[in-house]
Amino acid sequence: MKSVFEEMNAKDHEQVVICNDPDTGLKAIIAIHDTIIGPALGGCRMWNYESEDEALTDVLRLSRGMSYKAAIANLNLGGGKAVIIGDSKKQKTETLFRSFGRFVEGLNGRYITAEDVGTSVRDMEWVRMETQYVTGISRALGGSGDPSLVTAFGAFVGLKAAVKKQLGKDQVSGLKVAVQGVGHVGYHLVKHLSEEGAKVYVTDIFDESIKKVVNDFGVEAVGLDGIYDLDVDIYTPCALGATLNDETIPRLKCSIVAGAANNQLKDESDHGQMLKDRGILYAPDYAVNAGGLINIANEIEGYNRERAFSQAETIYDILLTIFKLADENDIPTYKAANMVAEKRMEDISKLKNFYLPKKNFMGKRDNG
Ligand code: NAD
Repeated sequence: MKSVFEEMNAKDHEQVVICNDPDTGLKAIIAIHDTIIGPALGGCRMWNYESEDEALTDVLRLSRGMSYKAAIANLNLGGGKAVIIGDSKKQKTETLFRSFGRFVEGLNGRYITAEDVGTSVRDMEWVRMETQYVTGISRALGGSGDPSLVTAFGAFVGLKAAVKKQLGKDQVSGLKVAVQGVGHVGYHLVKHLSEEGAKVYVTDIFDESIKKVVNDFGVEAVGLDGIYDLDVDIYTPCALGATLNDETIPRLKCSIVAGAANNQLKDESDHGQMLKDRGILYAPDYAVNAGGLINIANEIEGYNRERAFSQAETIYDILLTIFKLADENDIPTYKAANMVAEKRMEDISKLKNFYLPKKNFMGKRDNG
């Protein structure tokens, strides 16, 4: 691996903070990619990384992704992420998360944390005992609670933008949609699709999750691998990343891919191009699933669910802008999305840099 500085220079990272607290067992890395647009917001992942290098690579990659997601969603946020190295099933304690909270507090608002893979709302409530710079806490504590409703709604409008572009329709009624993964987001997305009259096929590794959507919405269950071969209009990944790859793309019969899963393209450039070559319209994942970030970003100014939903509705126009740019330049949509995000970061970096009194970003929340 290159040196930390080389790694940071390669993708323009501003700051990496190594957090070490032998008394609580905390070993964490906070990466701040970019704060041009606002404080770096991004979840805290707890994962049993095989090595410190692996943890660093992950946190650098994820924090950069957050800059793009915030920029494309027109949020006044930068990109950051944290990883705690450890086993989330065995090593979680109040003191570990409070220790992490103290490191976050030490950054004085440059980084705002949230739950992520391996961490939960309860863990974030421990973090909140030490810092106000934490989002995604429970509704009872004035937070935004489960983000998946807003994520699913944003993904639904994103999917509809792709339908408008590719099929010229305003509704999904009569269209066939294959949803892979019916967990938190998938469940609500299936609800929207069914209510608007789509014919929905679902798959999941958990039978219970399948039974629930089949019972609630009368959708049809299919096998785990068979989802790629269905004769459908839309493939909707809502489970894992990297499901668009050399093996699956040639099997797809749909003309649209639009879903909430993160990092759907196994290799961004190869598989983004491959979808374009096959005439399949890919709705870039980080724009489609930006509702989750929109939801927690709302918490910073005092949470209002109505406002979160109305901001998530803008994902429709964001996607139409991406599709238009991709057409005009004859480039894959993932590339167009990156261009839109980069342009916003560049534009904002050109704002006049004169003294302004500091805003208290978390000012509206009583952290007592
Ligand atoms: P979840 O864990 O609640 O649901 C994922 C579902 O996928 C589970 O039911 C799981 O059993 C299923 N699954 C796992 N492997 C599968 C496989 N191989 N085939 C079929 N199903 C499989 O997660 P979620 O919160 O619904 O998130 C879904 C995706 O959306 C994830 O990629 C997540 O990163 C992304 N996302 C979620 C949010 C949010 O608000 N929850 C926001 C942005 C992005």
